[in-house]
Amino acid sequence: MVDVTGVREAVMEEAAACGRPDGVVLMAVSKTHPYEAVMEAYAQGQRLFGENRVQEIASKFPPRAQRPEDMVLCLIGHLQRNKIRKVIPLVDRIDSVDSIPLMDSIERELASIDRTMDVLFEVNSSGEEQKSGFADEASLMEAVAHLSACPHIHLAGLMTVGPLGGDEQRIRSAFRYTRSLFERLDSMGLALEVLSMGMSADYALAIREGSSEVRIGTAIFGARTYDV
Ligand SMILES: *Cc1c(COP(=O)(O)O)cnc(C)c1O
Repeated sequence: MVDVTGVREAVMEEAAACGRPDGVVLMAVSKTHPYEAVMEAYAQGQRLFGENRVQEIASKFPPRAQRPEDMVLCLIGHLQRNKIRKVIPLVDRIDSVDSIPLMDSIERELASIDRTMDVLFEVNSSGEEQKSGFADEASLMEAVAHLSACPHIHLAGLMTVGPLGGDEQRIRSAFRYTRSLFERLDSMGLALEVLSMGMSADYALAIREGSSEVRIGTAIFGARTYDV
């Protein structure tokens, strides 16, 4: 059963306990679950959705014009440059931008269709080599500087995936690190709105470390039949 209502209450409770009752947005991560489940969540008031694979978005979701107008879909998984042309018409935001070549390809595609798009920069906050994301502060800052060459890309915030199965201290320090980068960019005058941190297993820690958006799959839709 799809349970947006219960998860939303739990997220709001955690946010309120941190003194930010309206400070955390819930993203429903619907990967591996059918479009019927997405619409069930929508019927429970959910508007923001995340998917991690371009191919799955293309085969699962109807074209944007045929979705509810206020449904917002974000790509949260690694994006290969050869899938950019395919994914841009299908999503509202790309949360996994993690290199300057990727920025250049996205910019070129957006310019060709005269569209501006919100993106998040993904940060590798755990130091795990298999994780995507900018590996350190210097490379993130280079990408921020490169925004001036990408007028069709609007940086809306940062996203990170915490260390999986890590202990609480490691998870918290990864989130704290990402938040410190977020505040650094904020102090540079980039008006960022989104700090996307936290999944089903670690969203409470993420909220305590300042997350403004949590990405929840399993707790809303149930276990996935295959892991991705
Ligand atoms: C799958 C996924 C999630 C959701 O994970 P759950 O543990 O099912 O809540 C969040 N973020 C990303 C990037 C994912 O790929």
